Amino acid sequence: MATHEVLNQAPPLENYNLFATDRVLRDGLRREEAGWAEERARAFGAIVGREPLRWGFQANENPPVLRTHDRYGNRIDEVEFHPSYHQLLDLGVEHALHSLPWREPRAGAHVARSVIFHILAQAEAGVGCPLSMTYSAVPALRAQPELAAEWEKRFTSTAYDPHLRPATEKSGAMCGMGMTEKQGGSDVRANTTRARPLGKGGPGAEYAITGHKWFCSAPMCDAFLVLAQTERGLSCFFLPRFRPDGSRNVFRIQRLKDKLGNRSNASSEVEFDETWARMIGEEGRGVATIIEMVNHTRLDCVIGGAAGMRAAVVQALHHTAHRIAFGKKLVDQPLMRNVLADLCVESEAATLSMLRLARAFDDGDRDADARGFARLATAVLKYWVCKRAPMLAAEALECLGGNGFVEESLMPRLFRESPLNGLWEGSGNVICLDVLRAMGRSPESVELFFAEVERAHDARLARHVESLRAELTDFNEVEARARRIVERMATAIQASLLLRFGDPHVAEAYCSARLAGDSGRAFGTLPVGIDFGAIIERAAPHAID
Ligand SMILES: Cc1cc2nc3c(=O)[nH]c(=O)nc-3n(C[C@H](O)[C@H](O)[C@H](O)COP(=O)(O)OP(=O)(O)OC[C@H]3O[C@@H](n4cnc5c(N)ncnc54)[C@H](O)[C@@H]3O)c2cc1C
Repeated sequence: MATHEVLNQAPPLENYNLFATDRVLRDGLRREEAGWAEERARAFGAIVGREPLRWGFQANENPPVLRTHDRYGNRIDEVEFHPSYHQLLDLGVEHALHSLPWREPRAGAHVARSVIFHILAQAEAGVGCPLSMTYSAVPALRAQPELAAEWEKRFTSTAYDPHLRPATEKSGAMCGMGMTEKQGGSDVRANTTRARPLGKGGPGAEYAITGHKWFCSAPMCDAFLVLAQTERGLSCFFLPRFRPDGSRNVFRIQRLKDKLGNRSNASSEVEFDETWARMIGEEGRGVATIIEMVNHTRLDCVIGGAAGMRAAVVQALHHTAHRIAFGKKLVDQPLMRNVLADLCVESEAATLSMLRLARAFDDGDRDADARGFARLATAVLKYWVCKRAPMLAAEALECLGGNGFVEESLMPRLFRESPLNGLWEGSGNVICLDVLRAMGRSPESVELFFAEVERAHDARLARHVESLRAELTDFNEVEARARRIVERMATAIQASLLLRFGDPHVAEAYCSARLAGDSGRAFGTLPVGIDFGAIIERAAPHAID
């Protein structure tokens, strides 16, 4: 029996186009030489705004299950996923999120991929992990051309094949990564896993690997790049789930991690016992080999961070546009407008960061300066976008009031996911120390970075850059100051990007709040005089030209 009418609740946000309603993505795609992918991105945005939003919920409500043995007691080490997880991953593979720049090596390919990835990650971030690792493995794999010749076509295929079977029986395959061990994650040189040559040894040769990995995500991948010690030090190996003769490789999944977020994706603890593998790249230069992979996954951390922010902001804007409190829609309450505008500013800065970085990856194929810029800017922006994501997710959640604390709202999932990109592929401190190392090793990258920042002209930015340059010449206690330095570098580049490519109201808000210090520490403390309405309207999910 009906007891009451439901009033003053927002309708669900569904059946909307995640690309068409995102001006920053649309403009960025064209500006960064990926206009050729516009129809693709638009079609993808429409697809993701429908059933995949539901699949995201289902994949999290039904997390993966480890099956160590089959019914007869044979070891299988497989993970079962809910069909919705497969549907999401299939969608990503079909749209080449794991391979677009390698399949279509043309100007704007990394940008196009970043935009499409940004869209899918808003439905569910858990599938981003295998997509990202497969994409990133390709440049590292190319260090061993005969392996690349055999596997690259599988890793770049748009045929999704979730079944674990010998690669010769599959057209599409996925790749993971195993670096982190119990005794050391950031400090990979502490790895204890050992590799024994099965013959003469050396690049491309066969080895038997014995040891473990403490975090091995997406263990249903067909192969992994792993680090292990040889006589000559830490080396990189290609470790498939099946040996060349078609038998199962030893890949003992001990258990799945019970994680804070990213729950649809399986992350495992795995043990190797004389596991068959082949060396990639030079012996003893494993970090240098796998860093190719890490650089690309760091770009994806920025994409993931920006996507999570956009997803949270869209929910906050949608809810507050419908909910009335104290006689007015929340979106019309002056203080809420400040909060929403501030969140939109941060989200736009993150998305512009992602687009600019992806463009640098595109240009890097033919331009050493772009590579130098990307080397430094990737670490700087990975640190900052990921650092801002949890704060933004928490604040966006609060915009929905109690509804934001409830799973059905999506906000708890976004909040739980939000610290992850900051953690993996170099957590905060490690990234900041890496920035110092990069600047020390290639001082020219610092000038490339500042040359990019100084393409924008604004008095506040000029003052910020001047004091930042001074700070960089002071080496006293520099390690302890690394976060402060990197944060200031990140705000400099984001301000520059907003001034050149962003909305003028957004750029004004960013410069006054983040550079000139005319704001508080929480979101929602922008100075008055900023056009909050223009900023909110621009970002609203109904904003279609
Ligand atoms: C969901 C999830 C999935 C993952 N999947 C994978 C995977 O597939 N493959 C894989 O290899 N790894 C994976 N990881 C592991 C991840 O990359 C590591 O957890 C991360 O690199 C940090 O390593 P650690 O956990 O050993 O922490 P530690 O290295 O012990 O670091 C702990 C803290 O100390 C800080 N720190 C470290 N060194 C310094 C220093 N010199 N100065 C100041 N501070 C320092 C770090 O920034 C960090 O905050 C995954 C992690 C998670 C959470």
